[in-house]
Amino acid sequence: MKSDIEISQHCHMWPIEKIAKKLHLTPDQIEPYGHYKAKVSLPIKDQHTKQKLILMTAINPTPKGEGKTTVAIGLADALNQLHHNAALALREPSIGPVMGMKGGAAGGGYAQVEPMEDINLHFTGDMDALTEAHDTLSALIDAHIHHGNQLNLDPRQITWHRVLDVNDRELRNCVVGLGGRFSGVPRQDSFSITAASELMAILCLSRNLMDMKKRISKIVIGYTFDEKPVTVKDLGATGALTLLLKDAIKPNLVQTLEHTPTFIHGGPFANIAHGCNSILATKAALNTADYTVTEAGFGADLGAEKFMDIVAPRIHKTPDAVVIVASVRALKYNGGMKLADLPKENVQALLKGAANLKQHISSMKRYGKPVVVAINRFAGAPDAGTDHEVQVLKNYITKDLHTHAAVVDVWGQGGKGALDLAKIVAKDCNEQRTFHPLYNQDDDLVTKLNKIVKNCYGGKKVVLSSKAKAQLESLKQNGWDKLPVCVAKTQYSLTDDAHRLGAPKDFLIHVRALEPKLGAGFIIALTGKVLTMPGLPSHPAALNMDIDKNGKITGLF
Ligand code: ADP
Ligand code: MG
Repeated sequence: MKSDIEISQHCHMWPIEKIAKKLHLTPDQIEPYGHYKAKVSLPIKDQHTKQKLILMTAINPTPKGEGKTTVAIGLADALNQLHHNAALALREPSIGPVMGMKGGAAGGGYAQVEPMEDINLHFTGDMDALTEAHDTLSALIDAHIHHGNQLNLDPRQITWHRVLDVNDRELRNCVVGLGGRFSGVPRQDSFSITAASELMAILCLSRNLMDMKKRISKIVIGYTFDEKPVTVKDLGATGALTLLLKDAIKPNLVQTLEHTPTFIHGGPFANIAHGCNSILATKAALNTADYTVTEAGFGADLGAEKFMDIVAPRIHKTPDAVVIVASVRALKYNGGMKLADLPKENVQALLKGAANLKQHISSMKRYGKPVVVAINRFAGAPDAGTDHEVQVLKNYITKDLHTHAAVVDVWGQGGKGALDLAKIVAKDCNEQRTFHPLYNQDDDLVTKLNKIVKNCYGGKKVVLSSKAKAQLESLKQNGWDKLPVCVAKTQYSLTDDAHRLGAPKDFLIHVRALEPKLGAGFIIALTGKVLTMPGLPSHPAALNMDIDKNGKITGLF
């Protein structure tokens, strides 16, 4: 069996101009970066009304991933095989996890986006631009304090921390400014991964350059000694930060192995941020294709909830269908089996774990739009599930849960492996259904959180730590407590404890902190033990990678 990179190195890409032409984008609407990548020029208008939007999400995954990106790519390829004119809008990978353990973010097998080497490495430089813009702001803050601190910033209350696109646990907590009076003012600081930067969320939620500029000006960087918020505007850094992102804000255009146009742009993680690609990329796809397939990170409790409640109101478009990716192996894992035992047939564990799928189906159906399950068959893998298990699962979904389901093998067959799914989705997309938001924008923060916990996670309610309670008071005093909420939570469980699998009921969600992100326009609720800076595993993927004298790369998945 060929590896992803071997398949990729043998593929035949079309020049990017030819992909743009498929979408009727004129030469002045794209800015080529080499032969196979381009940025899409701004402005990108709001002109889509009848085009269909398909949201790809999943059950709570195993640590290996469920295959959302891969199935999204295969579904878009299948829609094109059926002459439906489809495009993709996906997130861009982050170097941290690429060097760590998760595997590439450009799909896999015969459902991949190309050029996968570039996409997984520096791509068009967006992540680097975000990292530099973010850390420029950190440097400006510290220089301001060093040079007399006219804004009266309390160095103990700086809320703008540093970022890096590297999984580096050593930097989770650090002290900066050591070295005497010429080397700054010492204070405790921390690093998050770039994907968690508020600038990433801003880039993904901005409608145009000036919208991004306005959002950047509103970022709260910290508080004064008398508890007044201080913003980027107060510091005078809005212009510099915006211009550092002037190209990063433009969506990137690439193609799948089957030449389906793919916009890859913005990469917030769904466990610590809002988990969806940029709204400009989604709009670019909706403006130029009849069907847009987009992926929201991790399970439906994270990315999809955030898509529905944070992103959809900002693109003025709700999904016409939701696809939930599930695999036999992940459901058996949710049913209590150990990872090492997954190759063994076990219908009982499968049906027990299917309670997790049931919860995600019901939380997505609550929004009112059609829901379809894609059963991702891990071809050739020992834990792919037996034919019997796959049939039992399909019957359970269709007969007991009254939900459409299709078995897909896009990893092994490309678009051909998702033709059944594509037919169901294309039909379901044309049903006229009303969207029911999960919460009202005017609900207060705790009401919003409780609605998410009850309806989306199947839990009981949220409990705030004493720190979060104090922060809620400060949010109220500043008039920020009606903003949408973005929950930072483990992706492995519906609860805030990564080890509680399946579909627990009546659990509490523990909020340990509430962080205002005024530029992004939401409040982050940090729950459980979720960290904003990952670490590397004992054998990082980086150790398998190499490049030879001809520039040929190996080991990149
Ligand atoms: P997600 O987007 O849900 O995190 P991905 O689509 O990135 O998941 O898939 C995770 C990993 O699993 C990737 O390395 C991908 O190539 C692999 N994968 C996905 N589907 C299959 C499949 N059906 N058979 C074998 N490998 C697969
Ligand atoms: Mg993915």
